[in-house]
Amino acid sequence: MSRIVVGADMSQSSSIGNESKGGAAFLEMVLRQVKEAVEITNAGDDVYEVLRVPKRTLTVSIPVRMDNGEVKVFMGYRVQHNNARGPYKGGIRYHPNVDLDEVVALAMLMTYKCAVVDLPYGGAKGGVACNPKVLSKSELERLTRRYTYMIYDIIGPYVDIPAPDVYTDAQVMAWIMDTYSQLKGYLTPEVVTGKPVYLGGSEGREEATGFGTALGAREAVKHLGLNMSNLTIAIQGYGNVGYYAAKYLAEWGGKIVAASDSKGGIYKPDGINVSALLEYKKKTGSVVGFPGSKTITNEELLGLNVDILIPAALERAINKDNADSIKAKIISEGANGPTTPEADKILREKEVFIVPDVLANAGGVTTSYFEWVQNLKREKWSRSEVLSKLENKLVAAFKDTLAYTKRFEVDMRSAALCLAVDRVGLALKTLGVWP
Ligand code: GLU
Repeated sequence: MSRIVVGADMSQSSSIGNESKGGAAFLEMVLRQVKEAVEITNAGDDVYEVLRVPKRTLTVSIPVRMDNGEVKVFMGYRVQHNNARGPYKGGIRYHPNVDLDEVVALAMLMTYKCAVVDLPYGGAKGGVACNPKVLSKSELERLTRRYTYMIYDIIGPYVDIPAPDVYTDAQVMAWIMDTYSQLKGYLTPEVVTGKPVYLGGSEGREEATGFGTALGAREAVKHLGLNMSNLTIAIQGYGNVGYYAAKYLAEWGGKIVAASDSKGGIYKPDGINVSALLEYKKKTGSVVGFPGSKTITNEELLGLNVDILIPAALERAINKDNADSIKAKIISEGANGPTTPEADKILREKEVFIVPDVLANAGGVTTSYFEWVQNLKREKWSRSEVLSKLENKLVAAFKDTLAYTKRFEVDMRSAALCLAVDRVGLALKTLGVWP
């Protein structure tokens, strides 16, 4: 008889239930930022009362038959924060540190992100505590399909539309779509976004988040009256977002001098060839050791003397212990929640221009929206059409946010949250409370 293992191996299984693994501090940070925005905009206590908690939280324990015959149980979550402006929308993250508080915080950020870019969506997030790097492809498929089955009742094209996030990709989305479609009895591509292009995915979705992060930096450069040509750039986190941000910034004349991943970083003052670095990382599993570069730590990367810093790894990477060392003039946040409030204060005092996560990484969900619209209308748009629509949306959101910095005399992060809280608050007040 096979064994059932629950939470025995911390590299694989998560905490059971709501035991916090760091998500609590992240949640507290997001709530603080939102409370501040509610106060600045005078949105009112009723609005905060509704926004401080998610509308629905589902926790599931997912049994998976591993390749060696054992059964392991993984903890999974789907959190639906708010849907006043439209169906819930947000990615699914596979990471060993996923916990409920983290997923709640990320779901909240989705509500505000969708509102900043003015998408007709609310906010949600999902997560499974697992380490996909040590799972085989068939284990990952069984995990994904069982998780989809367990959240099936609360997702749907007009209810809640998942998408990729950290360590999930187009293949995982295809399994979600297929499982949902099998259960429904007909093909339902519009239940999930970030699918492969040949299965209803959108052209441009793969590069969308990084492209948006690069656009955020580009608009900041323009706003500050600088010229991109030869500005130096450091990328923390050379995954999908970090790579595409680097690619576009380099195309526009910027010089990428440093990059990192979970194994460490590299510094190459004469400039990094971004596609050669991607190839190298694919081959060796890390950026470390890239020919001609000096090995540095992630902390050292943050403190480099560069013009633009792109944090594109995980939350809370920039904190009170390293914020002081930052020399960049511009930060465009590719990751969700990379800057703690303490670090934010230090950076504000240093007059660093921060393009906040809800704006700088909104390219992903904006292109998800385009994918969903194409699916619902049974249309297919070209890559250039998608990227130009995306650019228009993000540049408009940047301008709207900038206008709020003037209106309330606040920095870009507060302005973006004020804009979002204004939009969500207006929807909430107009809809009222039923019954
Ligand atoms: N996971 C991405 C984010 O955090 C994309 C979400 C989506 O496309 O729904 O914004």
